[in-house]
Amino acid sequence: MEFIKDIIKAIEEFAPKSYQENYDNSGLIVGDPSKKTSKALITLDCTEEVVDEAINLKCGLIIAHHPIVFSGLKSFTGKNYIERVIIKAIKHDIAIYAAHTNLDNMQMGVNQKIAEKLNLVDCKILAPVSGKLKKLYTYVPKAHIENVRKALNDAGAGKIGNYSDCSFSTLGEGKFKANEGANPFVGTKNKIHTEPEIKLEVIFEAHLEQKLISILKETHPYEEVAFEIITLDNKNPEIGAGMIGKLSKPLDEEPFLKMLKKKMQTKCIRHTELLGKKIERIAFCGGSGSFLLKDAIAQQADVFITGDFKYHQFFDSEKKLIIADIGHYESEQFTNEIFYDVLSKKFPKFAILNTKVNTNPVHYY
Ligand SMILES: [Zn+2]
Repeated sequence: MEFIKDIIKAIEEFAPKSYQENYDNSGLIVGDPSKKTSKALITLDCTEEVVDEAINLKCGLIIAHHPIVFSGLKSFTGKNYIERVIIKAIKHDIAIYAAHTNLDNMQMGVNQKIAEKLNLVDCKILAPVSGKLKKLYTYVPKAHIENVRKALNDAGAGKIGNYSDCSFSTLGEGKFKANEGANPFVGTKNKIHTEPEIKLEVIFEAHLEQKLISILKETHPYEEVAFEIITLDNKNPEIGAGMIGKLSKPLDEEPFLKMLKKKMQTKCIRHTELLGKKIERIAFCGGSGSFLLKDAIAQQADVFITGDFKYHQFFDSEKKLIIADIGHYESEQFTNEIFYDVLSKKFPKFAILNTKVNTNPVHYY
């Protein structure tokens, strides 16, 4: 038996909720996080059939990629499948959790699974996001600087690409006056004190903010710790939408499409006109990725693989690349493996079951 909140914690350590898009609703949607369960059921979509399966298998938690609820529900009468799923889950004491765009936006998330299936190399994020990196400035008395620096670095601050433990420091003078009621670490009350201090600067990923503030307050010797946090415009190359990578050996267009169809287990690929060129650079995005077409073209992809392209959007390829729409479900069907990998590593004795329901609402004749 594991606490639902511990399962959630493990998923969010891998895919922090702060990386989800504004329109999204990732997180615990139904259920009490302080309850325990012995089994979780993993699925792409939480449909009524999946809830029935969870009831039969006695799973106390459903972990889905797509949130069943996106916007506010005003009644629970069972008039549509969303309300019926929620009602059924609550009646049977089943929690529903979703990790959606936060999992899409991770370098090791949904798109990494596509890269693995297609054996792509040199993969990087296609459209890195900005606003997810922050910087912390703090002022530390000289004797304590290494202690504070190490504690912040150990907690994940100062990671830039393949480098860790990055920081910058400058020596200066801190001035302060401890008033009545204060208990100063150095200096005397009611007198302005000057202390040699080091200004320490570290970059960090936004989701670490609360953790770093607590660690700073624990390790900094002052009663009142001076610090500032700012949000940076810098893009985080490890977080964002879509990916771009290469085939280890270029392929002609038709063998490529054949390979794509087989590896992604799709019955149908809707694609733009073939261009008579070798395929090597592959842009891809699980789910509805048409918004990334311009990025795929700008980065000179030979093909852009995603789902949910509309008729008029196919024209936008302008013969610069081949759009290959493999279907939304098909492009994300291996997402369950991510949940399985993360949870089985952390909770080796906990039962993680894959749904047997094919939740794809699209059928091919
Ligand atoms: Zn999706």
